[in-house]
Amino acid sequence: MTKLRHRNGSPQVVVVGAGFAGLQAVKALAKLNPPVRVTLLEQHNYHLFQPLLYQLATGLVQPADIAHPVRGIVRRHRRTSVRMATVSGVDFDARQVLTEEGGRFGYDYLILAAGATTATFGIPGVEEHSFPLKSMPDALRLRAHLLRQFELAENDPAEIERGALTVVVVGGGPTGVEMAGALHELFKHVLVHDFPELDINRARVVLLEAMDHLLAPFHPSSRQHALEILAKRGVEVRLGQALERATPDEVRLKDGTVIPTRTLVWGAGVRAHPLADNLGLEQTRGGRIAVGEDLSVPGRPEVFVVGDLAGAGDGKGGLLPQVAQPAIQEARHAALQIQHSLDGTDRTGFEYKDKGIMATIGRNAAVTELPSGARFKGVLAWYMWLALHLAYIIGFRSRVAVLVNWIWSYLTYDRHARIIVAVEPNPQRALEPPRPAAQPASAPPRR
Ligand SMILES: Cc1cc2nc3c(=O)[nH]c(=O)nc-3n(C[C@H](O)[C@H](O)[C@H](O)COP(=O)(O)OP(=O)(O)OC[C@H]3O[C@@H](n4cnc5c(N)ncnc54)[C@H](O)[C@@H]3O)c2cc1C
Repeated sequence: MTKLRHRNGSPQVVVVGAGFAGLQAVKALAKLNPPVRVTLLEQHNYHLFQPLLYQLATGLVQPADIAHPVRGIVRRHRRTSVRMATVSGVDFDARQVLTEEGGRFGYDYLILAAGATTATFGIPGVEEHSFPLKSMPDALRLRAHLLRQFELAENDPAEIERGALTVVVVGGGPTGVEMAGALHELFKHVLVHDFPELDINRARVVLLEAMDHLLAPFHPSSRQHALEILAKRGVEVRLGQALERATPDEVRLKDGTVIPTRTLVWGAGVRAHPLADNLGLEQTRGGRIAVGEDLSVPGRPEVFVVGDLAGAGDGKGGLLPQVAQPAIQEARHAALQIQHSLDGTDRTGFEYKDKGIMATIGRNAAVTELPSGARFKGVLAWYMWLALHLAYIIGFRSRVAVLVNWIWSYLTYDRHARIIVAVEPNPQRALEPPRPAAQPASAPPRR
């Protein structure tokens, strides 16, 4: 492999996105020799620990427990600078990253790690009326909405008939399962005490899954365990039932069933971040960017794509799952390939090291499967899930905060973060009909 031509001085690497993959890339790049300069472009000023978003939505943790300022994370890397900027495109020939703010960032190497977004599969009404769970505002919006529904129902119990206390969660994968379990606990252990005049038994959590089983990537015995635990705890699991359409007040299933609900939680699918559609690069399933074995873009050896944005092969004809471990390992691999280019040595193909899968179902219940074939369920699997997730949270303070919240909640069944805060409405959500103007159009503008 011949060395790539660089600009003057140390090679410049631009990393897009400070998620699991982007941060791991920055960490690995800091160890390269000769040293490289790194610019990390991130649209938010924080890294978000997405696996605990459902706990934010159900009042178990606070925003700062699962989000960490990016500048704080990278400040010990002297050659790394951070820019809060939203990347809008890349001029691959000029080797420049373009941002919505009008910036242009030149690079010798580029690592794209912009993650994924929710896929609604074009089902009518889902985009406008569902609550996705992909970002911090998503989780806070859902939390506020749920709590408001309880307030509404307490003021007027007829609201329950209209679906105020019914939550429909779509998608029986790990996100849907953990969300359904957590909602049930919130209702039956916490809100039951906050709203003593409400008949909490009328609060429903319905989990819809189009396939005939939950937790598709898991062994049938783990799937069965999850199903039994959820059913035993009172979650209505409906397998083989697909959503046909959603309105602000109800969902309609393909078999004609209508469920009155104001809260449709969407955990059914992900697709590559829309940035992938703007780059003019080859895309594969789910809009993910096609990459070669070394994770670079075909024909552009200086551009790597990693994490949820990348269509990296699993070696069996499929793509690697869009979860944290592939993102972390791919990012390390991309940094290693840059080292190979700096050294003028041959690049290597990415090989994913499977570390197993796990999903929590709720208090004392989870399923864990290791690559050796060992399977765990129940309390032991739950402790494994807790320990692993705690270990991956960034920052000692956040880890302690989350642990304290967990212990407090475990001992008292309390979820102290059940606070309604105003969050900008989802621009795609049209729950509320437009209100008539309060003033005539000719009225002078208010100061
Ligand atoms: C609710 C939920 C639960 C999950 N639970 C688990 C779990 O239990 N275990 C597990 O392994 N995985 C889980 N995942 C998946 C896991 O979080 C992702 O696979 C992982 O975050 C992917 O890392 P990434 O770096 O590719 O993307 P992300 O972590 O999504 O990071 C992408 C970053 O890019 C930034 N960005 C996006 N567009 C731009 C732009 N145009 N300009 C600048 N910055 C941009 C984003 O703000 C973000 O910070 C879960 C995901 C969700 C949503």
